[in-house]
Amino acid sequence: MTDNKPNLWHGIPREEIPWRPSVDDEACIGCQLCYITCGRAVYEMHDGVAEAVDPMNCVVGCTTCGNICPTGAITFPALDSIWKFERERQIFRTVKKEAARKHERADAIKSREAAQQALEQVSTRASIELAGEFGDKRFLVRLEELLGDQPYDVVNVRLEVPTVKGARQKAPSYMTFEITSEEQSDIEPFLQQVKALIHDAGLVLVSDTKV
Ligand code: SF4
Ligand code: SF4
Repeated sequence: MTDNKPNLWHGIPREEIPWRPSVDDEACIGCQLCYITCGRAVYEMHDGVAEAVDPMNCVVGCTTCGNICPTGAITFPALDSIWKFERERQIFRTVKKEAARKHERADAIKSREAAQQALEQVSTRASIELAGEFGDKRFLVRLEELLGDQPYDVVNVRLEVPTVKGARQKAPSYMTFEITSEEQSDIEPFLQQVKALIHDAGLVLVSDTKV
């Protein structure tokens, strides 16, 4: 073990549990597959032969290295010795508590992910396109008044007048702009206010797109 935490298996000191790999030196061909495979650093290679130097770090019930050893040099105690041990030491009360904690952690992770997802789906910006006659109705002034001290802004304002003569004759013009949240919060409440203003100003909302 690399840290100072006690090596416990469902509350029982690992040293008391009869589960460990045994290597038959004669059968080992030194391929190092067990050494490379075991994530618990149970093995070291000595004189071209695998040695289980930290057998109590073996995961109880794991037989991976034994399964892949090309010569069958690694063996483990019979499984029924573990089953008997589990019954005798009544590990299942502890297992139940551990499982409850695991469910709690999994639920907390799921809730956090769901909250994160919801946050990512919030739009903090929207593009608006509208048409109408803007000059006399001073739409931009009203829009500025609407902004007031609210934590939003209006950017990229563009007014398109079809022709100079048309403008003089009060033909409809087009305006586009974007609204943004300065606090990176949901733009929807402000978008509704802007839409109401557009309607109130007698203009036509061509499109509103949250981005
Ligand atoms: S996998 Fe088997 S043969 Fe290969 S080093 Fe380990 S014990 Fe030896
Ligand atoms: S059985 Fe699993 S944990 Fe135990 S020594 Fe082999 S690979 Fe490592």
